Amino acid sequence: ALFSTVDDKTEVREYFNNEGFNRWNKIYSESDEVNSVQLDIRKGHDMTIQKILNWVKADGDTAGKTFCDCGCGVGSLAIPLAQMGAQVSASDISDAMAREAAERAKSMGITNAKFYTSDLESVTGKYNTVTCVDVAIHYPTDKMAEMVGHLCSLADERVMISFAPKTWYYELLKKIGEFFPGPSKTTRAYLHEESVVRDALKKAGFEVAREEMTGTSFYFSRLLEAKRV
Ligand code: SAM
Repeated sequence: ALFSTVDDKTEVREYFNNEGFNRWNKIYSESDEVNSVQLDIRKGHDMTIQKILNWVKADGDTAGKTFCDCGCGVGSLAIPLAQMGAQVSASDISDAMAREAAERAKSMGITNAKFYTSDLESVTGKYNTVTCVDVAIHYPTDKMAEMVGHLCSLADERVMISFAPKTWYYELLKKIGEFFPGPSKTTRAYLHEESVVRDALKKAGFEVAREEMTGTSFYFSRLLEAKRV
């Protein structure tokens, strides 16, 4: 590869601490200062979050369960999980993102969620559930299996991971530049082969239990829930 992971990571960290923070903080809010593309992405992302929360709700008894959200952004998933009674530990490589999430949680009176700055490789501990939503887009192909393995090592029971699937159609969209439209094209975007993710889950002793696909005009996210067997 031409670029090392360190370069990818540095680029992603800088982006999400600066212009990426402004862009995504707006998308992940109710702000009306978004264009039609950003609004479409917001709607798609909201659907992914809702699908996860519906799965968690369907399982019942969230109170006291521990959740680890890797690459938590502004807390779009971590905050509602905490509101459902979970003990949440959430982190993000971007200090700006992690701080925003902490502030949002504090303003809502949430005390059972902690937010800190960390790349997900450095996250340690054991949790009932580990989530990693729409983060893999920033992961180079050759690091993906390892990343999934690390998430699994943190999970006692289950992992939920989403990624933009590598299909000919999305590849084409990416190539013609419609995949990430707008001026903020500052990070490389990686699509992932579903088989790579599935194989890594299997290798770590997990079995896919539920799956979803969410696609709008500008947002594509394959969601897998895997349970330890
Ligand atoms: N998971 C959140 C959600 O669904 O609302 C945020 C998704 S956002 C598209 C991607 C996030 O991943 C950003 O906040 C970014 O800083 C974070 N991120 C990217 N690479 C990361 C890494 N290696 N470790 C931790 N976080 C990372």
